[in-house]
Amino acid sequence: MKNNIDLEFDRNHIWHPYTSTINPLPVFPVSKAYGVTIELEDGTKLIDGMSSWWAAVHGYNNPVINEAIEKQIKKMSHIMFGGLTHEPAVELAKKILSIVPKGLDKIFYADSGSVSVEVALKMAVQYWFSKGKTEKTNFVTIRNGYHGDTWNAMSVCDPVTGMHEIFGSALPIRYFIPSPSCGFYDTWNEDDIIPLEDTLKKSADKIAGFILEPIVQGAGGMRFYNPEYLKKAAELCKKYDVLLIVDEIATGFGRTGKLFASEYAGITPDIMCIGKALTAGYLTMAATLATTEVATSVCSGTPGVFMHGPTFMGNPLSCAIADASISLLLSSNWQEKVRNIESRLFDGLAPAKQFDNVADVRILGAIGVIEMKENVNMAKIQQEFVKEGIWVRPFGKLIYVMPPFIISDDELSFLITKLLKVTKEQ
Ligand SMILES: *Cc1c(COP(=O)(O)O)cnc(C)c1O
Repeated sequence: MKNNIDLEFDRNHIWHPYTSTINPLPVFPVSKAYGVTIELEDGTKLIDGMSSWWAAVHGYNNPVINEAIEKQIKKMSHIMFGGLTHEPAVELAKKILSIVPKGLDKIFYADSGSVSVEVALKMAVQYWFSKGKTEKTNFVTIRNGYHGDTWNAMSVCDPVTGMHEIFGSALPIRYFIPSPSCGFYDTWNEDDIIPLEDTLKKSADKIAGFILEPIVQGAGGMRFYNPEYLKKAAELCKKYDVLLIVDEIATGFGRTGKLFASEYAGITPDIMCIGKALTAGYLTMAATLATTEVATSVCSGTPGVFMHGPTFMGNPLSCAIADASISLLLSSNWQEKVRNIESRLFDGLAPAKQFDNVADVRILGAIGVIEMKENVNMAKIQQEFVKEGIWVRPFGKLIYVMPPFIISDDELSFLITKLLKVTKEQ
């Protein structure tokens, strides 16, 4: 079959995520994607285990979302949000605010997850600025976190797996505390919360907020921690006058078995970021949500407004997609689907615990993680996954899957069987 994609040009001129231009790993040319299938140029079909990095919860080329796009595109694709508003932005906001933890009443549309984190951090600083607490500008976070690749988002990522080694001296120095040692299924150990309390006790006068991913730490280590930690952390933030910022960008919209992972702890954060599955893998959009109390303080005093406003803020096309995606999710039996994926991952991935090269296997919701003892050879393993007909993209020691919720039992069995086969042979 004729290759329509100029791979030579791609190789010589285009940067892919976290890659070299000198010696890039091969990339696979995709011609189309539908359902849970990714089709390569040569006709090879791959079962998708990644949901395009947590996003494509309904799979690809969904007719309902496609129709929403067509309808919206004929009205307008984009219009500036300064001084103007539109139905997709308003209807989407209504929908989001009705499903997020109670108390989050204000929404700021951002253009990517990282930007929504920047916005959250700025909100927290401006909140204290308005209250005259101009020293409260720093942040505390737990290790193994991931919050995006822009400057301040990067500063609160894990300092080891993040990029602090390269950018360290130019990054603001944050307060890092150990991530909870208690796993999701472990009995809660009160000692886990001590580092946070110690840090807040000592330094709360310099700390604007505590930022973390709720329950599931994604790209910083794929760890699932005990909900009690989040509950206790929320109490401590109140006690020591520090805002709680929860990054639900990866966990939001059902992935962990709850619509939002914060629900496991029954908490309402002061500020919350959502993204990724928000637009079902169609277009880039994220949002930062805040309580009325936070928003009111941010907008009191001088300058009296929140100082942020991206060009593509509230993009109508993205809003229409997100609205259609959330409706689709809520009207589907997503809980049952996620529970089904979870139980099949539990059974299916269990044999990997016995493999000599595997350190740990963990599952929560529609997320399955195999932690290897050594870093995987990316070039080799990626080739093997594709040869077996599945799309899985590991990083470091972590081989993980988070398939679209619409995956059928047969497709999931196929994904798991091939995943085990390739993992065992590493
Ligand atoms: C992916 C991710 C981000 C960054 O989102 P982008 O859209 O890639 O900028 C931030 N936080 C978490 C938890 C993420 O998983």
